[in-house]
Amino acid sequence: MRDQYLQAMGITRWVRRSHDLAPIASQVTEPVPEQALAVKETIELSPVQTPDSHNVDALDWPALERVVSNCNACDLHSTRSQTVFGSGDLNADWLIIGEAPGADEDREGQPFVGRAGQLLTAMIGAMGMKREQIFITNILKCRPPQNRDPDVEEVMACQPYLRRQIELLQPKIILAVGRIAAQNLLNTHETMKAMRGNPYTYADTGIPVVVTYHPAYLLRSPLEKRKAWQDLQMAMRIYDGEALQ
Ligand code: URA
Repeated sequence: MRDQYLQAMGITRWVRRSHDLAPIASQVTEPVPEQALAVKETIELSPVQTPDSHNVDALDWPALERVVSNCNACDLHSTRSQTVFGSGDLNADWLIIGEAPGADEDREGQPFVGRAGQLLTAMIGAMGMKREQIFITNILKCRPPQNRDPDVEEVMACQPYLRRQIELLQPKIILAVGRIAAQNLLNTHETMKAMRGNPYTYADTGIPVVVTYHPAYLLRSPLEKRKAWQDLQMAMRIYDGEALQ
């Protein structure tokens, strides 16, 4: 089954042809060095600056969803069709965080439903899970026009919502997909190259964060899929308790 998903990711898993049936190390199995699994650093989030963050911190899940759906804390409320709060299992161990809704998500009100979403679903499958077992959301809950990068004010306005979601969900691990998601989640300007392969933790929660490529980038650069698979393998090892003790 996992091979099917790896195939859907566009990754070929080579298997020895005759006498030895065990799958051999291939482009998908390069190990991440053990020392790389030590926590690199914990980055404190900057204090939230939106005026209503105090209230957001006290909301339960349905109230938070309601507040987000009526949010007008930044200009994106005037161009969105609807907010995209997130979807999946509220008891999920895994939380995947992307950048912001695109056109498909803005139309449907669900995260990652376009082509990138299909690849994300394949990536989740490659890890041996179903999409419904995971909670998926974004840094921004509204679509930026023309899918431009989020600006600082928009991220700051949305930050209390994501933080409260994480507080309420209490995931065991967070996968940040793409540079924008990772930088904003970890409050850093590091490049993808610097962030990949390093396990971080989210703010002061101790929740491990693993950074990988955005599926939209992988659609444009399929040769990078094998590196994304390494990231996912690292995330699985961390989730399985092989690090961060
Ligand atoms: N890209 C994202 O980062 N998030 C989505 O929900 C869809 C595309």
